[in-house]
Amino acid sequence: MATLERRELGNTGFKLSCVGFGASPLGKVFGDVSHEDALAAVRLALQSGINFFDTSPFYGGTLSETVLGNCLSELQVPREEFIVSTKCGRYKDGFDFSAQRVTRSIDESLARLKLDYVDILHCHDIEFGSLDQIVNETIPALQKIKESGKARFIGITGLPLGIFTYVLDRVPPGSVDVVLSYCHYGINDSTLVDLLPYLKSKGVGVITASPLAMGLLTDVGPPEWHPAPSELKALRFIPKPGSPPLLVMHTSRSADRFIQHPYYKLNPSFIGTSLSLEEYDLVSESFVSACKAAAAHCKEKGKNISKIALQYSLMNKEIATVLVGMNSSKQVEENLAAAVELSSLGIDEDLLHEVEAVLQPVKNLTWPSGIQQK
Ligand code: NAD
Repeated sequence: MATLERRELGNTGFKLSCVGFGASPLGKVFGDVSHEDALAAVRLALQSGINFFDTSPFYGGTLSETVLGNCLSELQVPREEFIVSTKCGRYKDGFDFSAQRVTRSIDESLARLKLDYVDILHCHDIEFGSLDQIVNETIPALQKIKESGKARFIGITGLPLGIFTYVLDRVPPGSVDVVLSYCHYGINDSTLVDLLPYLKSKGVGVITASPLAMGLLTDVGPPEWHPAPSELKALRFIPKPGSPPLLVMHTSRSADRFIQHPYYKLNPSFIGTSLSLEEYDLVSESFVSACKAAAAHCKEKGKNISKIALQYSLMNKEIATVLVGMNSSKQVEENLAAAVELSSLGIDEDLLHEVEAVLQPVKNLTWPSGIQQK
């Protein structure tokens, strides 16, 4: 079997396997996982060249860290052969980005992981805290943890892309080494691409997570807790016979959708003065059903939505690693095979275009996450 490609992570000196092991499923957040299945998945991942594992005290209320720690220690893997990231600030009972809490958090995580240090410590989902607190209190506390040797590098994670520029523009250079973005570099949403030159200019390594849109781009579908509201919809304007085509809608990224959700308002100013609403039919596309339709389309053709979705995310080499959540050796095998096939044969272009066409109406549609920042 061909070896899994490794890519550099910013200025950390780490060379991460392009497929990273997302360990949230080990916390049973996507369904039950036996210890044997977890151990087999971690063992196969390590044997096959996956060297990066990501967890958090939040996943499964600390269970993911405990299970990952047990697996790594049972397998007796030399410490220098794997790279582990965990997080702080987000817990089962809520968010706390105070210096005191994150300083205690790393000790708790290390105990569960049975490690002396983690390679990366992320502030978890910072849009749920005050970004000014992250800049002025949390990141300085994490610097002290870095100096103590309990974490080698520091990262920040979250959904809205604007949080990364907000923080990176305000912290001293070199105090944030890595960003972990999720659900923004996949077939249905690739908006992270616009931020990559900025992140490179800051010397920050880039990790992307959730290539399967947290279960939406799988045959099984998303878990109940999936944060995309089922009413998240894109509205399309279909010209009635004889009406002018909606060129504006398709040439501007911001104008090609109107989001019908309490957090957003239909903004008629996008439409332009020369267009009249009576000339168009409004068709609403649900984000969740478009993803289901994409999965069904692949199935009909005897193909697999998860495979092409992961391959799409892997294609951008500016991104060091794609974290995919895995809970069985079967999934590890499939995801490795997808990566190896991509590097030898390339992506199935025809299928990709078909899936992109199904997802086009909801392309780059995301959901609100976090608190109103002051
Ligand atoms: P994902 O998009 O990777 O999807 C995971 C789901 O897909 C799970 O149900 C898994 O069992 C399933 N799956 C995996 N491989 C499959 C295959 N070959 N065929 C069918 N189904 C398959 O979403 P995720 O797990 O949420 O994200 C990956 C990882 O990234 C997480 O485990 C976590 O470590 C990290 N992450 C971090 C953040 C954050 O920091 N805020 C957010 C999201 C994810």
